[in-house]
Amino acid sequence: MKIYNTMSKSKEEFKPIEEGKVRMYVCGPTVYNVIHIGNARPMIVFDTVRRYFEYKGYDVNYVQNFTDVDDKIIKRAIEEGIDSHEISQRYIKECQADMQALNVKEATSHPLATQEIDGMIEMISDLIDKGYAYNADGTVYYRTRKFEGYGKLSKKNIDDLEAGHRSIQVAGEESKEDPLDFVLWKPKKEGEPAWQSPWGEGRPGWHIECSVMSKKYLGDEIDIHAGGEDLIFPHHENEIAQSEAANGKTFAKYWMHNGFLNIDNKKMSKSLGNFFTVKDIAQKYDLQVLRFFMLSAHYRSPLNFSADLMEAAKNGLDRILTALEQLKKNLEISKDRENQRNLQAGAQSDTIKNGAQEESMTGQETEALEELRRLGEKFEKAMDDDFNTADGIAAVFEMIKLANIHAAQGSTSVFLQEVWNQITTFCEILGIETERKEEVLSQEIEELIELRQQARKEKNFAKADEIRNQLLDMGIELKDTREGVQWKRI
Ligand code: AMP
Ligand code: ZN
Repeated sequence: MKIYNTMSKSKEEFKPIEEGKVRMYVCGPTVYNVIHIGNARPMIVFDTVRRYFEYKGYDVNYVQNFTDVDDKIIKRAIEEGIDSHEISQRYIKECQADMQALNVKEATSHPLATQEIDGMIEMISDLIDKGYAYNADGTVYYRTRKFEGYGKLSKKNIDDLEAGHRSIQVAGEESKEDPLDFVLWKPKKEGEPAWQSPWGEGRPGWHIECSVMSKKYLGDEIDIHAGGEDLIFPHHENEIAQSEAANGKTFAKYWMHNGFLNIDNKKMSKSLGNFFTVKDIAQKYDLQVLRFFMLSAHYRSPLNFSADLMEAAKNGLDRILTALEQLKKNLEISKDRENQRNLQAGAQSDTIKNGAQEESMTGQETEALEELRRLGEKFEKAMDDDFNTADGIAAVFEMIKLANIHAAQGSTSVFLQEVWNQITTFCEILGIETERKEEVLSQEIEELIELRQQARKEKNFAKADEIRNQLLDMGIELKDTREGVQWKRI
């Protein structure tokens, strides 16, 4: 199994630190708002990586944090006139609901930065003791130049960085020994959340939290550290400097980074304002479609978001679900038929005592199953090559084509069951739920439909038509039938 390691800039054979186990840390979101679909990309792709490891028999310890203390959270709390804890709790809940709808498995641990302050104080003290950090009037800085390997992940040269930093003088950072030094602990400002520490009241910097949570939940050395590629510098570079200086060991064996989700070839981000939240997408699509869309590209490639590509993903997913629905029906019919036959045979002969007798597969079925196994190998080969989900999905489509050709009502139930088991196993690795979900409408649309029904009852047809047109503009077409009003998306 090969993984592209950002550290070596090449694909490497995966060798776990501990046989049969994977320790994996994925940097989580800062919870000051609902997540956008760019934030959802690492969640979906690394969940799929985890699922594939589990399929291969590994026991995966998967940690994803929530950054719940940060300038943006504090700013939002001040805007709303509430405590920053309320803001972070609200958006953690929202994020968890989104992740669930995206079929992202729950992490083994999902620690919160604010619950781990003691560990952060301990690591910062350790770094000070070892000469890697210093306290300057209540702000603790990391002595970047002291860490020999600084820049090894992002391939940045420390002198180039220094030159860049000299030109940007940041107010309030005059006490730094060197412009390259970064903050581990900052002193309290009025109205901000703060904790007691040996350096006075204050709060931790962002980078230290991941070093500490990774150490606590996974140990000093981990197999995989992952996140979006914007985190390579400075976040992951700083994490390495902190963890390796404190623990004296290589922090992570493999560094995995997902490419950006773009809009018009620009990174989707809150600051640029060019984003859709996961909840926006949920108004129009089952979130399985979003998941499928994300996995139809390789995780390291940039992925452009567009309505056309989402429609293509919807149609592709539909093709899979429709075929599986048919397969399930055929399997039920075939099982019923077999039961009937067994019952009849049982009534006619005393020799059949142990109930069900399975029909044996036909020669053609055996061949089709052989082909299906080859496609399974193709799927694995794609995933073994740095988790190429795009090729993995292509193999699933071939499986679906095979099922559509060979898995008919008249097929034997053993064959149908095998086809079902094989295809659904691969769908599960991709995190695709094989049962089609009832599509739910947003509350706003439900209410408009209800209002229109009311208007019709009151014979206010002008209003009813107005609402119908309003719904049309929102992409919902209504049809009045004898069974009541029906709707479809257009
Ligand atoms: P943040 O809340 O900005 O720290 O981001 C949480 C995670 O989402 C990080 O792993 C980021 O790298 C990732 N991320 C943010 N924006 C995008 C994007 N447009 N495409 C892919 N990943 C992103
Ligand atoms: Zn992190």
